[in-house]
Amino acid sequence: MSVVDEIKERLDIVEVISSYVALKKAGRNYKGICPFHAEKTPSFVVFPDTQSWHCFGACGTGGDVFSFIERQENLDFAGALRLLARRAGVSLKPQTEANQAEDKLKKRLREINERAAEYFHNLLLNSIAGETARSYLAQREINRETINRFQLGYALDDWQALGDHLQGRGYQREDILAAGLIIEREDGSGHYDRFRGRLIVPIRDERGGVVGFGARALDDSTPKYINSPQTPVFDKSTILFGLDLAKGAIRREGLAVIVEGYMDVLMAHQHGIANLVASMGTALTETQLKLLKRFSQRFALALDADAAGHQATLRSMALAQETLAQRVVPVPTPRGLIKYESRLDVDIRIITLPQGQDPDKVIREDPALWARLVENALPIVEYYFEAITSELDLDSPKGKAEAVRRLMPIIQEIGNAVERTHYVQKLARLVRVDEKTLLDQAGVKSKRAKRHHEHGEEEEEAPPDREKFTFGLEEYCLSTLLERPHLLQGLDDALRDVGVDGLKADDFAQAENRAIFASWWESWGTKDLGDLREELDPALRPRFDLLLEGPRGAPPTNNDQAEEALIKGGLRLRQRKIQKLVEELRFLQADAGELGGAAIAEYGQMMNFYLSAKWRIDQALHANSFFGRSEANLRRTPGLVA
Ligand SMILES: [Zn+2]
Repeated sequence: MSVVDEIKERLDIVEVISSYVALKKAGRNYKGICPFHAEKTPSFVVFPDTQSWHCFGACGTGGDVFSFIERQENLDFAGALRLLARRAGVSLKPQTEANQAEDKLKKRLREINERAAEYFHNLLLNSIAGETARSYLAQREINRETINRFQLGYALDDWQALGDHLQGRGYQREDILAAGLIIEREDGSGHYDRFRGRLIVPIRDERGGVVGFGARALDDSTPKYINSPQTPVFDKSTILFGLDLAKGAIRREGLAVIVEGYMDVLMAHQHGIANLVASMGTALTETQLKLLKRFSQRFALALDADAAGHQATLRSMALAQETLAQRVVPVPTPRGLIKYESRLDVDIRIITLPQGQDPDKVIREDPALWARLVENALPIVEYYFEAITSELDLDSPKGKAEAVRRLMPIIQEIGNAVERTHYVQKLARLVRVDEKTLLDQAGVKSKRAKRHHEHGEEEEEAPPDREKFTFGLEEYCLSTLLERPHLLQGLDDALRDVGVDGLKADDFAQAENRAIFASWWESWGTKDLGDLREELDPALRPRFDLLLEGPRGAPPTNNDQAEEALIKGGLRLRQRKIQKLVEELRFLQADAGELGGAAIAEYGQMMNFYLSAKWRIDQALHANSFFGRSEANLRRTPGLVA
C-alpha cells in the first residue's frame, strides 16, 4: 500500500476538515461555510462515504483530504503529505533501497497471485479433474456468471502442480514461497503446493488485486476451509472478502452487511444483492470497520440464530467471547462492538436469522425475507436486551439480578451519555428497580467481578446464612404482633385514620415474613403460638422461633411503648409499600408515554391517590401524636432498626 493510501485509510476526512471548518451533520454528510470563498450560507459539503469534499458555492472547489490541506495550508503536495503523515502517525521513510525492494516484492507477490488465480480458474472451467468442484458449485446453485465474476477456481489434487506451473512461467521459488502458495518441506528436500484438491476463492483487496486465497475442501478433508497464510500482501484481519465488488453498492445504499462466509457473499451477488462483505474466519476487527467506514457509516452483522441463543445462555461475557471466537462468528464481543460503534461514530446493527438458516440459504430461497431481516436489524444494545431477557424470568428476583448482571456491563460501554441513560432507564423499567440503585449496584458488582477475574476465580453467590437473620422494621412489627396480638387493633386504627386499609400481608416485602403474618392473621384469636408453629411450613419455623425470641439483647418494653413503636413501624411499612408503588407507576407512565398509550390519565389518577396517601402518612408520622412521644424516642425504642 502506498503512503498516500495508508494516510487516507488512517485519517477520516470529516475529522481533518473539522479542525479547520465548523461542520454540521446534514443527513449522511457534513456542511459548513466554505473556507475558500466568502459566503453566508453553508455550501461546503464533506462526504464521509467517499472521503471527499466539494463547495457547491461560488468557488466550486473540491477534492480529497490532500487537496483540502494543500489549499487550506497553502502547501504543495509534498508539504501536505508531511503534515498528514504526521497527523496519521505514518512514518515517511525516505525511499531507501530496502523499502524500494519491499515495494517490488509486494508487486511481484500480487502478480504471482494473479497468475495463480487464472491458473485455478482455468482448471475449474476446463479440466476433467475440476468436475468435483463444478458439481459442488452446481449443487450450491452458484451459476457461471458468479463463477466468472469471482474468478472461482480449482486446485488439482497434486503436490507440485501449481509450483511447477508458476516456476515454468519464470517466477522465483522464493517469491512463490513468500506468496504462501507453496510450502517448504521440513527436511529441505523441496516444496509442495499448499492448496490441493480444493475449490479456490481468490481474495482481493478493496482495489481488486488478488492478495490471497480461500480454499474449501471438496471431500471430508479437514480443515474444511483454509486460507493463505499471512504474507507481505495478505493480512486477513485487515481485509473483507468481496469489498472490491461491494463498495459501490455499499456507498449507494449507505449500508454494509457483514456476513460470515464467502458463499453468503457469492449467493447475494448472484441475486443482485451487492452490499455484502465477509470477514474471513476471524472476529471483526476495528481495522476492517475503519476500512468499511470509508464507504458507509451503517453496518449490519448477520448472526445465525444459534449464535444468539448461545449468547443468551452463556454465563459470563468472558466465556461468550471465547465461544464466539471459536464459532467463527464475525463478532468480537458485544462490548467490543459497542466500543467500536462509539469510537468510530458508526451505527452497527444485528440481523438475526431464523433458526437453522444462514444468509446463503435465506437469499437463495426467499430474497424478500432477507430484505425484511436487514430492514429489521436491531441496534446492538437492543439486540442484547432481547437475547438476554428472553431467556430470563424477569418477575423473579433471580432473573432480575441476572438481567442486570449481564446487561449493565454492556450498557456501561456505550460512549454516548444520552444513549447510555436511555438504556439504563429501559433496564430499570424492565426489572422495576430505580436507576440509581441499578447504577450503584452495577458499580460495586463490576469491581468485584473484575477482582475475581484477576484472581481467576469463578464469581459465586454466597449461600444464604440463616444465622445472619437481622431484625429490621418488618421483623420488629411481626415479632411485636406475635407477642402482643391485641396491639393489631391500635395499628389498624392508626392506618384507617389516615385513610388507608389496615395492615395486610403484602405490607411485608420479605416473603417469609409475609407468609408468617398471613398464617398468624388468618388464625388470629383462634390458635395459640404452638399450634400456629405446627401449622407453618417447616421452612418457616426457624424464622418463627427467632421472631418469638425477639430482638436479641433488647430490654423488655411496656405495653404502651410497644404499641407506639408498632404503630409507627406499621405506618412506615405502609409508606415503604406505597413508595414502591409510586416508583413502579412512574415506570409504567414512562412506558405509556413511549407507546402513546391511553392509560396515562388512569396512571395519573393512581399516582395522585398514592401520593396523597403517602403525604397523610408522612404527616401522621411527623405529628408526634402517638402518646406524645417524639420520633427521636421511637428511634431509641429497643430493637427497632428502621
Ligand atoms: Zn467555496
